Amino acid sequence: MGIADGKRALVIGVANDHSLAWSITQELHRHGAQIALTYQGEALKKRVEPLAQQVGAHIIGELDVTVDEQIESTMVKVKALWGGLDMLVHAVAFAEREDLRDRFLNVSRKNFSRSLEISAYSLVALARAAEPLMEAAGGSILTLTYLGAVRALPNYNVMGVAKAALECTVRYLAQDLGRRKIRVNAISAGPIKTLAARGISGLGDMLRSHAERAPLQRNVEVGEVGSTGVFLASDASSGITGETIYVDCGYNIMGF
Ligand code: NAP
Repeated sequence: MGIADGKRALVIGVANDHSLAWSITQELHRHGAQIALTYQGEALKKRVEPLAQQVGAHIIGELDVTVDEQIESTMVKVKALWGGLDMLVHAVAFAEREDLRDRFLNVSRKNFSRSLEISAYSLVALARAAEPLMEAAGGSILTLTYLGAVRALPNYNVMGVAKAALECTVRYLAQDLGRRKIRVNAISAGPIKTLAARGISGLGDMLRSHAERAPLQRNVEVGEVGSTGVFLASDASSGITGETIYVDCGYNIMGF
């Protein structure tokens, strides 16, 4: 029996087979969970469909997290499919490429709002929509963050501000939803080459610095993020909520 046996998980943010959401999906599947995936736009549907087949996942349909009607219809489809939900994985973030280089100071009002809406507010909207589906037995909500939320790092810029909002959102959601036995946590992953990460200027330097300075003397592997995701889905983490858990080979603890 897997530790996620029988859990019903909705995973948002699989773009391709490098996505952190895909690693979490694979590990959840390996440990016995049933999975539903969404995709953003027709182009991604073509990439997500073959991945879904590999793990016997249901494709729920298109979900752009800025569109409330799509959030609602996603939950209606999940209810029709399973009657309820045990886990929600939110692995979604966005910043304009121009804002992931040079000076943070230059970010426009419009781009700032958009980054925060997609990367942080979306967790609030999704948690609110998922709450009624988790009411019977409680559940686990998981998001993905990065060290740039709590430290100033070159080029991460507005995404750092969005991740700070996201980590704070995790704490307030945990406070609201705890009485319903719904836990809310974040994994702060070390840098991993994904589609989203490639948009950050100087990603190569970031990866080199992490591998050199982390106590474990290497970069984190995507499967290590996936297996922590399974832990947070499972009853093994039943006492943990509102936390940001670092899966970064220890990089965040170092002063120099
Ligand atoms: P990824 O594979 O590119 O995944 C990012 C996902 O966000 C994509 O599926 C993307 O879809 C989706 N997305 C963006 N805007 C959206 C919207 N409006 N509605 C719905 N989906 C939207 O990259 P990833 O690195 O795995 O990112 C997943 C999460 O991990 C993000 O929160 C990221 O900040 C976080 N994280 C990543 C790292 C890292 O080093 N890779 C480290 C720490 C935390 P589109 O491709 O269609 O935009």
